[in-house]
Amino acid sequence: MPLALYDTWSRTVRPFTSIHAGVVGMYCCGPTVYDYAHIGNLRTYVFEDVLRRALIRNGYEVRHVVNITDVGHLTSDADEGEDKMERGSRRAGESAWAIAQRYTEAFFADWRALHLLEPTVWCRATDHITEQIGFIGELERAGYVYRTSDGLYFDTSKQEDYGFLARLDRAGLQAGKRVAVGNKKNMTDFALWKFSAAGIKRQMEWDSPWGRGFPGWHIECSAMSAKYLGNWFDLHCGGEDHIAVHHSNEIAQTQAAHGTRLANFWMHGHFLTLDANAKMSKSNGDFIRLQTLQNNGIDALAYRYLCLTAHYRSKLHFSWASLDAAQTALNRLRQLYSAGPDGGRIDPDFAARFDAEVNDDLNLPRALAVLWELVKSPLPPANVRATLDSFDLVLGLGLSDWKPVAFEIPEDISKLLKEREQARAEREWSKADDIRDTLNARGWRVEDSKEGQRLIGITTDTTDIGNE
Ligand code: AMP
Ligand code: ZN
Repeated sequence: MPLALYDTWSRTVRPFTSIHAGVVGMYCCGPTVYDYAHIGNLRTYVFEDVLRRALIRNGYEVRHVVNITDVGHLTSDADEGEDKMERGSRRAGESAWAIAQRYTEAFFADWRALHLLEPTVWCRATDHITEQIGFIGELERAGYVYRTSDGLYFDTSKQEDYGFLARLDRAGLQAGKRVAVGNKKNMTDFALWKFSAAGIKRQMEWDSPWGRGFPGWHIECSAMSAKYLGNWFDLHCGGEDHIAVHHSNEIAQTQAAHGTRLANFWMHGHFLTLDANAKMSKSNGDFIRLQTLQNNGIDALAYRYLCLTAHYRSKLHFSWASLDAAQTALNRLRQLYSAGPDGGRIDPDFAARFDAEVNDDLNLPRALAVLWELVKSPLPPANVRATLDSFDLVLGLGLSDWKPVAFEIPEDISKLLKEREQARAEREWSKADDIRDTLNARGWRVEDSKEGQRLIGITTDTTDIGNE
């Protein structure tokens, strides 16, 4: 079954073919590095990584570009408020440059921990100021730019189909006017270049033909994708929040300057949510990082597994219970994988079914169901292992890198476990709960399942102890 992907532009799942034979250009909007990435952000990068791996599996070479937004992302989508970097700098009492450096490095660490393939190009907005100024110049010559007291703006009224990606109701928006328009002519107009305020020295500012200042957020993606992938490439991705503003504006800019809608396919990962309908936001201050999970004894790759259990076009509601279940599933998978010897053959039927699910708009939940059928099948363990190896090229769970960590269970802990098993056998539930609390306090977590108790070292790895 050939690869088919959902394209937000056409709102359909359609067959994917590359513009240039054998090679795919793919641009993904990267992090704004004023703070750590939260696990919601990371869900989007996992989706993009699976997409890239699926393309590779379909025989494509992928040129993957990811930007780092280290200037220009304002605290409000309406292009008001301040630059997130300058605000982050004030909050931490450090320079904006130091903050960008620190959070970029932390982001790279998360990236590696999640087994995300290294992009072909990482590009920083602050390394591409010349390209952005050049792009704004082109827009100005094409007649799309006007000047206000605080910057240069893109005139969206000049484009008949502005906002098509989001199916934006422009007339309705204009009439509603709930968002402040400020000096802008139209509500949907957006900043291309912001002037440094008179008398205030910004940390990040540059000279331009229009005055000292800094680029708007959207122009960096149009300028950098053009530089590394050209003006018409295969895939552009991001989280669903980018559809209405950021990606609509990238398209508007490239359309105005070069006459294309930038990418043939626009793909969006849906949000990870914390509470019903609540999104996880960095600006809420308090958020869950990958490190938070790791501090709680969860593997980064268990989080990756959790992401694979939901289709990228549905919301994923985060809970610690589902994360624990993902960790348990991953551990089991690792054990089953390790049980098989090398030298097996890939099972063609399972491989074909797995590929069909992946190619059906990345249906990873169903691909995982095929995987579990495989490991429970009567196939020789060596063939199960070989087939899992081939699946893992898409899943990225690092099954072949995993080494069982044999950890010793101290004598007193194993005594407590036996007591608890006894208490459970005698249906003394409150005693069993007390013992579980004691174990928790000592850094061990115990879970009950049909197969009996299962001990988890909170800062180490997992082992099965069974109750046979
Ligand atoms: P930012 O660092 O805020 O620019 O966002 C980085 C990426 O994470 C973008 O592709 C966003 O669309 C995406 N994103 C933001 N919040 C979430 C969320 N709760 N779940 C999934 N993706 C998100
Ligand atoms: Zn972008």
